[in-house]
Amino acid sequence: MSISVEKAVTYRIPISVTEILKFSNGYVFPVCPRCRITLEREYQSYCDRCGQCLDWNDFENAKVVELK
Ligand SMILES: [Zn+2]
Repeated sequence: MSISVEKAVTYRIPISVTEILKFSNGYVFPVCPRCRITLEREYQSYCDRCGQCLDWNDFENAKVVELK
């Protein structure tokens, strides 16, 4: 199996969303575990940017990172 195929497969294996960014204006956004952009919607199945499949099962325990 080539590296590129392995990489493509990992995008379809869900990765837990474990971080939430909290902005100074009070808005909070979940963070993509692969490319680390903020996700516009909670519980979306895939990241809009990198296409990573997302697992929200641990989201209640996600770490909140406050931006100042
Ligand atoms: Zn992403």
